[in-house]
Amino acid sequence: MIFDLAQIADRCGAEPSPELAGRAVRQIATDSRLPFAPDTLFIALDGPNYRGARFLGEAFAKGASAALCALDSDYLPAQGQILLRVADPLEALRRLAADYRDTLSLPLIAITGSNGKTMLKDLLATLLTPTWRVNTSPGSFNSHVGIAHSLLRLQPDAELALIEVGVSAAGEMVHKRAMVRPTHGVLTNIGLAHFEGFGSRERIAAEKMKLFAELPADGWLIVPPEPLLEPHLGAITARIYTLGKDPALPAIRASHNLGEGRSALELVYPDGSCHRLVVAIDYAFHEVFETLLAGLSAAHLLGLPPAQAIAAATRYQPPLGRIEVWKSPNGSILVNDAYSADPVSVRACVRVFGEYPGRRKVFVFGGMGELGERDPYEHRIVAEALAREQVDALLTIGLGAKVAPAYRELCPQGQVYHFEDMAELCAFAVQFARAGDVFAIKGTRSLNLDQLAVQFKARLTQSVYYIDLGRIRENLMAWRQHLRPGTRVLVMIKALAYGADAVQIASFLQTQVDYFGVAYAKEAVALRQNGITAEVLVQLVLPEDCEEVVRLDLQPVVQEAEVARLLSAAATRTGRTLKVHLEVDTGMGRFGVFPDELLALARLVQGLPGLELHGLMTHFSSADDPAADDFTHGQIERFRAVAAELEAAGIQVPLKHAAATAAAARFPEAHFDMVRIGLGIHGIYPSPAVRAAIQLKCPLALVSRISAIKHYPKGHPISYNRQFITPRDSLIAYLPIGYHDGLSRRWGKGWSVRLRGQRAPLVGAVCMDFTPIDVTDIADVKVGDEALIFGEWHGEVNPVEDLAELEGTIPYEVLCRLSDRIQRIYRIQEI
Ligand SMILES: *Cc1c(COP(=O)(O)O)cnc(C)c1O
Repeated sequence: MIFDLAQIADRCGAEPSPELAGRAVRQIATDSRLPFAPDTLFIALDGPNYRGARFLGEAFAKGASAALCALDSDYLPAQGQILLRVADPLEALRRLAADYRDTLSLPLIAITGSNGKTMLKDLLATLLTPTWRVNTSPGSFNSHVGIAHSLLRLQPDAELALIEVGVSAAGEMVHKRAMVRPTHGVLTNIGLAHFEGFGSRERIAAEKMKLFAELPADGWLIVPPEPLLEPHLGAITARIYTLGKDPALPAIRASHNLGEGRSALELVYPDGSCHRLVVAIDYAFHEVFETLLAGLSAAHLLGLPPAQAIAAATRYQPPLGRIEVWKSPNGSILVNDAYSADPVSVRACVRVFGEYPGRRKVFVFGGMGELGERDPYEHRIVAEALAREQVDALLTIGLGAKVAPAYRELCPQGQVYHFEDMAELCAFAVQFARAGDVFAIKGTRSLNLDQLAVQFKARLTQSVYYIDLGRIRENLMAWRQHLRPGTRVLVMIKALAYGADAVQIASFLQTQVDYFGVAYAKEAVALRQNGITAEVLVQLVLPEDCEEVVRLDLQPVVQEAEVARLLSAAATRTGRTLKVHLEVDTGMGRFGVFPDELLALARLVQGLPGLELHGLMTHFSSADDPAADDFTHGQIERFRAVAAELEAAGIQVPLKHAAATAAAARFPEAHFDMVRIGLGIHGIYPSPAVRAAIQLKCPLALVSRISAIKHYPKGHPISYNRQFITPRDSLIAYLPIGYHDGLSRRWGKGWSVRLRGQRAPLVGAVCMDFTPIDVTDIADVKVGDEALIFGEWHGEVNPVEDLAELEGTIPYEVLCRLSDRIQRIYRIQEI
């Protein structure tokens, strides 16, 4: 999308100016902390406690090509900085989003409701992406600003858009409707969220229905069977369908508990056909079936054939809520879910125990609130779940006799400990924990059980590498939207998934991707041992690995005749057929046969027993670099040519793949049947040109805690070889992390960590186990404060791309170097 600055000024009521002529921007940003793409317009929005204009300097420093702020801001633009001043920057953003939306003529489905919006949007995206080019709002963007960004991110060639819309106060929806202009709608339910803002469920219903007041007559609206909606339906001209009741929609005829967190649904479609859908949803979460049905109903109205919808729904995995899973150095596992405690999330948390058989299981529980008359029933259900998972010990706080008696009755060998005081509970739990335990902590945020998790971690480690799995999943969705419909996705998890732990990443993504990729067969051993059954592509097969490749049922890339013969022999010995891929070197200069040798190798493989020619691949050398685009086009052409040559010789290869992150982002013509994404799943960009092509989220954060602070007078040298001399009286803090952990000595020259919302520069040489930082300018700094070394965390951003550039390397190297000593903590945020 391209916005002409003179037009923007005109639309938003800014002074026209000759310097705007012929200038255009391609992106709009409102958060100066996030990295900017080239040609960005920064809009300075006021927050609850701050003026947006405060961030103008930072935005320009980061390369904003222009900015827009409130009339009364006192920022003085420097030479060459373009600043538009308008009465209301938020209104300007809404207007630009609305204008852009008006240029698109696609079906736009707006999703609102009190609960389940994000889940429904993700489910629909899963159902529809194999068939259409679907764009969705990212994460749970549903505020004014979030919706505006969602609209501005819609691609001109999208075929369908899914936009989530929330309301927190009366009167908001009219503005949102004007911006979104939905053609279709789904209302999930009318609950009690944001009840304070409205005062009654009637008012909540009235406000939500405003979103749909102007749906076109050829559009449709799906609503739940909710009497409160009745008064509002008459005014709507679009066709209205009531979920589960309308004969034109699918319905759930029966549901069954399959155990082990799976359920089966029997669905009847309007044509009379019946379908069985097995989903990875615990039967206890029957609430979720409604959302599932809403998604299937919308897909049906869009024309998706039932069989295809059911097949896609099988792949859907509902989010677990916000859970943090941590493996400590002594082998214990900590499941920290101390942020919410409604019945659904408590059952989800207990279910996590099932994933760790054979360990001692300890559940720390603060109970559930606000359940009214359902309270005894819901607590009894929790006790039953604990007994079913054979939990060994239950530690409760402030719960009285709600859970323990039922748990004791069902699980007589279990131990129970009660506490009334958080400090006592913490002291006991830290003592009670043994190496190898699984500890799960569950309670409401107000209970502050999170303290316990903090104490566990503090006892065991100082530096943590956080990996937000929810963001990784969002990145996967962003890739699916970026790719041609039907393109398969291989996620590269070589090198321990670039340091993030291959088993964790693969377990989390396995139902959502088509293939995983590793460099060597040995890397796949841990995957298979941990129950990963997905297809795995092995890039380089060594002669001694051939047996292993067959045993683990991997798909090897064959580069030469000798390995092909060994693979064939190994496969025939076990009576199996191995799917193999051939690699052709179109210019990478690493592996693969030259184009003129390919046909001979393909014929050889075809003639060998036990091998089936399944894939053809190549790899690009410079797809991240626009200056080398001619070379990349040449590689694409050579790949096409050899593929055509094989075909002409009567050799069919079903799966052709070439693109890694950079080419997948920048060269749609290089997508072929599958792309192989590594770095891009981690939301890191190989180059600025890739950043401009796709928008991803960074799920990674390397965080360390200050272990000492020392005062030095002016003129004192710091660390080895006196590379830094204090230029003033200074406060120097030490982070307990060094080049042994994967930092680089070179970071001492110019890198800063983020601490208490400010920058603290690294000073002097980084040591093997310690890193000095200058904290003189940071108020109230103390031992134990957490510093963000790189990545994104709690709204702070310290881009790994910038760090790599400073070091003179690429982000890949920075990530892969992180040593085992750094603890990995996985978070699943609700998305
Ligand atoms: C590493 C690798 C990839 C993934 O590269 P990214 O740039 O991380 O996406 C894909 N294909 C091959 C052959 C690779 O070696």
